[in-house]
Amino acid sequence: MAVGVLALQGSFNEHISALGRLGVKGVEIRKPEQLENVSSLIIPGGESTTMAKLAEYHNMFPALREFVKMGKPVWGTCAGLIFLADKAVGQKTGGQELVGGLDCTVNRNYFGSQIQSFEAELSVPKLVSQEGGQETYRGVFIRAPAVLEVGPGVEVLAEYHVPSANVLYSSSAVQIQEENAVPEKKVIVAVKQGNILGTAFHPELTADTRWHSYFLKMANETGEASSSSLVPAIGV
Ligand code: GLN
Repeated sequence: MAVGVLALQGSFNEHISALGRLGVKGVEIRKPEQLENVSSLIIPGGESTTMAKLAEYHNMFPALREFVKMGKPVWGTCAGLIFLADKAVGQKTGGQELVGGLDCTVNRNYFGSQIQSFEAELSVPKLVSQEGGQETYRGVFIRAPAVLEVGPGVEVLAEYHVPSANVLYSSSAVQIQEENAVPEKKVIVAVKQGNILGTAFHPELTADTRWHSYFLKMANETGEASSSSLVPAIGV
């Protein structure tokens, strides 16, 4: 079955083209009943408050929650990750509705505003084993969230090493820091919990399709594992 892409707002076209490059059809989802025609779902990056308002307007929340609860594979990128988190904190969170299901707390704008957007090399061991490719992945972070806390069932797939804020000068040879510089710290930027995948960055905005392949593989495995257990739920 085709992969659904929530198409209310944000980078849904980019996800559909990335899937297309892998020979997979992505289907735009705008109404609750359209979820019945897809076996997995991608929630794109964008602006989570706007996306939540549109989702509410189109009465999507109950169907989205049901889709996640049924164990169907769902991947959220950036705003999509925020949507899937059980709890979101940070600037302008203001009680915005979430789909939830992913046992974690995210900070919506952890890295700041648009001008603090950046690209960074991430070490993602899970991407190597899949295709024998390189382990590093160049993540595009746009007004990106970060995962602050995860529950016991959540697997951390990637962390970002936040550079010290107090670096005065840095080159490959020398790094001069202020006295009392804050040491480098790590934050979680990619997670998986059963059927749910979340990335704080935007693989749909790059030519590298390894995260899409990873999700498709995960969707195949989850689909095989959950199809038998879903039968009784569907039958009643
Ligand atoms: N931080 C944004 C939000 O709150 C998400 C940004 C993105 O998806 N690029 O919605």
